[in-house]
Amino acid sequence: MKTQLVVLGGGPGGYAAAFLAADLGMEVTLVDREPRLGGVCLLRGCIPSKALLHVAKGIAEAEHMADWGVEFKKPKIDVDRVRKQKEKVVATLAGGLGQLAKKRKVKVVRARATFADSNTLKLEAADDEPLDDDRIEFDHCILATGSRPAAVPGLDVDDDRVMNSSDALELPDVPGRLLVVGGGYIGLEMGTVYAALGSKVTVVEMTDGLLPGADRDLVRPLAKRLEKQFEGIYLDTRVTSLEAGGDAVRVTLDGEVDEKEQRFDRVLVSVGRRPNSDNLGLENTQVELDDRGFALADEKQRTADPAVLAIGDVAGEPMLAHKAAHQGKVAVEALAGEPAAFAPRAVPAVVFTDPEIAWAGVTETVAEREGREIKTAVFPWAASGRAQAVGRTEGLTKWVIDSATERVIGCGLVGYGAGDLIGEAVLAVEMGCAVRDVAETIHPHPTLSETLGTAAEVHLGTATDLYRPKRK
Ligand code: FAD
Repeated sequence: MKTQLVVLGGGPGGYAAAFLAADLGMEVTLVDREPRLGGVCLLRGCIPSKALLHVAKGIAEAEHMADWGVEFKKPKIDVDRVRKQKEKVVATLAGGLGQLAKKRKVKVVRARATFADSNTLKLEAADDEPLDDDRIEFDHCILATGSRPAAVPGLDVDDDRVMNSSDALELPDVPGRLLVVGGGYIGLEMGTVYAALGSKVTVVEMTDGLLPGADRDLVRPLAKRLEKQFEGIYLDTRVTSLEAGGDAVRVTLDGEVDEKEQRFDRVLVSVGRRPNSDNLGLENTQVELDDRGFALADEKQRTADPAVLAIGDVAGEPMLAHKAAHQGKVAVEALAGEPAAFAPRAVPAVVFTDPEIAWAGVTETVAEREGREIKTAVFPWAASGRAQAVGRTEGLTKWVIDSATERVIGCGLVGYGAGDLIGEAVLAVEMGCAVRDVAETIHPHPTLSETLGTAAEVHLGTATDLYRPKRK
C-alpha cells in the first residue's frame, strides 16, 4: 500500500492531524492497533475519567446540600450502571470519530506498526482479521503513538488488584480500601472517584506535596478538602513493596507513617507516563530521542528524519490532549507549506478534582525558579458573590504579571469549576494582554469569571470588592 501521509496513532493528536490533512486535500492513512479511534484520551484517559468524575460531583453536591437544609438519602450505587454509562459516552464519541474519518475518506487501518525505514511501516495484525497489506509506503509520517503508564520496578505486581489508570477506569468494583501510589493529577482524580463511590482512599506521594510542580497556594485548598475525603495522605513517603496475598494487597511504606505495613483491597499505581517510542523500529529511521525517550521535534514538529514528524505525548511534555491536537494541526500545516509553528505562550493544565486546579503560562513556581521579575495579583474567592452563593469560597484566582511590561504571562486558579475559567486566561496570555486590559474587560456578574477581572484590579489597586488600607 502507498499513501501520501500516514498518521501513526489515532489519539487526539493523530486523529486531529489526519482529519485536517484530509481537509487540506492530502491522501491520508491512519494506523492504530486499537479497534476504535480516540487513543488514550478517549478510551482510557480524559473522557472516561471525566465521566466518572461527573458521578463523583453529583454525589458530593447532594451531600453539600445538607449545609443548605436539603438532605438526600445516602446514594445507592449500581457500579454496573455507572460503568455502562461511562462506556456509552466513550462509544458515542469513538463512533463519531469513525464517522468523521469515513466522511473525510481517511483510510483507517487497524494494525500494530513498526518502521522498516524512513518511508515504510511494517504492519502486523492487531486481531485475528488478516491485513490487506503488511506494509505502507509513505511520503511523510506523523508519529503520534502517545504514552503509557510508567511501571515502577518492584510495584509491577501481576495481580488484578494492582492496577494502573486504565485498569482503575474499568471500575472493576468499589474496593473497601484503595491505595493510590502517586499524588499527581491522575491519582487524585481517580482517588476522588473511588472515594465518592465509597472506598476509603489513601494516597502516598514521595515528594513533600501533592501535585508536584503546581503552585503551593493553588494546591492548599484542594489538599485541605482531600484530607476530609480521603482516609490518609502520606507525603514524603514511598511504597517499598507490594505483595498480593489471599485476601489483601500487603504494602510496605517508608516515610512518616505510623503503620508501615498496611493492607488494601486494591492499589492504583499512577506514577507518571512514558512515551511509546520503544519497539517501534525508530532505529531504522533518523528520528532522535531524548534521554527520557521523547521524540525530538522542532517547532514545526519535524524530527531529524525529513519524512517523519512527531506530535503529542510521544513528542514531550506537557502530556495533554489539547497540546497533542494542537501539535497535530501544526504538523499538517507545516507539511502543507503554511507558516505554522508550535510556539504557545500558554498551554493550560487542569486537575479535575474538587475543587479543580487550573493554570496556564508562566507559573509562580517556574518564575521563581528562573529568577524572572514578576508580580502576582490574587483575588480570594471568599470576596466573590458567586462563590458565596454556591458555598464554595475556598478558591483563589491569581495572575502572574511581568514586572517590566505589566503584561499577564500566567494565571493560576483553584476553585469550583476552575477548569472552565482558565480559557479566558489562556487567551489573555496568548494575546499578550496588559493586566489593565483584563481589569477593564467587563465580566458578567455574578460569575466566578469575574474573579479574573477583580484579580487584575487587585494589581492596579482598583478592586472595590476588597479593602486594602492605603499605604501612607
Ligand atoms: P494517545 O492518546 O496516547 O494515542 C496514541 C495511539 O497510538 C493509541 O491509540 C495507540 O493504540 C496507538 N499506537 C501506539 N503505538 C502504536 C503502534 N506501534 N502501532 C499502532 N498504533 C499504535 N489530558 C488532558 O488534556 N486532559 C485530561 O483531562 C486528561 N486526563 C487523563 C486521564 C488519564 C487517566 C490519562 C491516562 C490521561 C489523561 N490525559 C488528559 C492525557 C491524554 O490522554 C494524553 O495527553 C493524550 O491522549 C495524548 O494524545 P496522543 O495523540 O499523543 O496519544
